[in-house]
Parts: sequence; C-alpha cells; structure tokens
Amino acid sequence: MAYSLLGLAGNIISSIASTLEENPTLNLCDKIYCLWCREAERKLDIYEKIKSPKYFQKSPPLMKFTAFINNFRLKKYKSLSFQ
Ligand SMILES: [Zn+2]
Repeated sequence: MAYSLLGLAGNIISSIASTLEENPTLNLCDKIYCLWCREAERKLDIYEKIKSPKYFQKSPPLMKFTAFINNFRLKKYKSLSFQ
C-alpha cells in the first residue's frame, strides 16, 4: 500500500539532489519550534530561498532569538557520540 520508486540509485540520487538544490526547503517543516528544520535553515543560510516565509523566517530578531533558544536545546545532544 506504500508508494514505491524503482530506478537506478545514481539517477534517483542525482534527481533528488538537483531538486533539493533548486529548493532546499522542500523537506523542512514550517513549525517555529522544530529544532532540526530551524537549525538546518540557519546553518545552510537558506532564508532567501524560502518561497513563502513565515513571520519567524523573515524577522532577523526572531531568527536570532530562535537560534539562541535552539542553542540551549541542542546542548542535550552534545554528549551523544555516534561511532
Ligand atoms: Zn521540522
């Protein structure tokens, strides 16, 4: 019942990569409290590429405040180590 995609891995990866290069916000949500999406926007500096930015994505003071809060939220993950 799930959607499937069958193709050559290289072609699929290339297609997905070019689609995300055109619009890197495709797989990001627009919830202000989403740590991962807000940090991806900030670290990749893709604010100019967001087609319909929310109020917190076009207000530099709110963007800085969100980054400040997320910095505290991310500290709980700094002790994790993946090997
Ligand atoms: Zn998200």
